[in-house]
Amino acid sequence: MLDLAITNGKVFIPGSGFFELNVGVKDGKIASLTAPGEPLEAKKTVDAGGKYVTPGFIDPHIHLGIFGDFAMECENETRAALAGGVTTVGVFMGGADSYLPTLPGMIDVVNAKASTDLFFHLSIFTPEQLAEIDEYVKQFGITSFKFYMAGVRGVFPGVQDGFILEGFRKVASLGDKAIAAIHCEDQSMLDVAFEKLSAANPNGTLADWTDAHPEVAEEEAVMRAVFMAEKAGNRLYCVHISSKLGVERFARIAGANHGRIFGETTSAYLSVNKHDPVGLMAKMLPPLRDQEDIEALWTRVADGTISSLGTDNVSMTKAVKGAENGMLGAMPGYPILQTHMPCMLTEGYHKRGVPLEAILYKATAGPAKIFGLYPRKGTIAVGSDADLVVLDVDKEWKVDSAKLFSYGDFSIHEGRTMKGCPAAVVKSGEVAYQDGEILIKPGAGSCLRRSL
Ligand SMILES: [Zn+2]
Repeated sequence: MLDLAITNGKVFIPGSGFFELNVGVKDGKIASLTAPGEPLEAKKTVDAGGKYVTPGFIDPHIHLGIFGDFAMECENETRAALAGGVTTVGVFMGGADSYLPTLPGMIDVVNAKASTDLFFHLSIFTPEQLAEIDEYVKQFGITSFKFYMAGVRGVFPGVQDGFILEGFRKVASLGDKAIAAIHCEDQSMLDVAFEKLSAANPNGTLADWTDAHPEVAEEEAVMRAVFMAEKAGNRLYCVHISSKLGVERFARIAGANHGRIFGETTSAYLSVNKHDPVGLMAKMLPPLRDQEDIEALWTRVADGTISSLGTDNVSMTKAVKGAENGMLGAMPGYPILQTHMPCMLTEGYHKRGVPLEAILYKATAGPAKIFGLYPRKGTIAVGSDADLVVLDVDKEWKVDSAKLFSYGDFSIHEGRTMKGCPAAVVKSGEVAYQDGEILIKPGAGSCLRRSL
């Protein structure tokens, strides 16, 4: 007898298409895929009613514990993720210290508090961290390592090319299941632009803030990062590509490295331009840009240049955001996990006619394959984890941040009408979210290990 059956769905199998199948679940795993007429015995049934059934979404790029306590954010923000259909998150950790003493405690927190599954990427800033990569793999099953070509002003510096090349060589030595991630912006171009902007226009708007991070700095860094990865021989993941120049350059050079160089963009860069009335609440690094950039990014999502959709979610309250402190004083980041995939369906599938499978793939099998989680995650196959979304692509709803699950009390999509949302979410074989309510307790999610 099955634990759960999801019937009457159009099941999305990434890379294959949509099929009318019933999905059977047992012991947290997908146990059967059967034709609609075949008899099914299950303790519980969810009738998808003709809606799509997709693998649980993966957001491979979030941050936790930047502006709030790690445990508090892990508890709240994974619930926001779940309500948006995201059942696995990739969390970028950073800092100048060795991760060896702190990771065991963080993994305990994840296992106690998370409502999604979670995997870590470690940012590598120091020779000590670089030397410990083998231990991070062995002890914690972490196989993705991030390098910052530009840092965050006043918070942490970026690292130099010599260090990045060493890091890439180390990642290459681990083989093709490991991957380096990189923040592509040239620090010196940002510095010059920032000095100019802060002298001439310190009380600027969100639109002015874009000038602090010129597109050319992203475009140049994309070239340099891919060049170094070619020399070192590692797989490379370019996080949060934000600009038309950046993504066009990436498209030209990634094609020649097919299957080794991957590009990510985020839902914010695909949905909010720098003139949006949300203003400085949407301050971010890299910044939000023009409508022209948004259109270029969508073109590259549709044609497959972009392999993965993330959020770069950094949650905080309005008070911490401090938009009233002006362009230079406001903090970067916003909570966006719950509106992420609804927004991709609204802006991509409905408004621009981007094929549904092109969007869904980049939130399922795409990131799962890149980060060594496939086929446990990112597909619907017998033996895969039973993380599933019953997706209502036509449901219209209005974003009201007071009703979202994030502890952050604002949304850069505030007031927008979204078309599409999960009707139900299954996590590890349990109905975890249905009709607006979360039905599982914190700790139902767990920390994922990956291997080489
Ligand atoms: Zn990030």
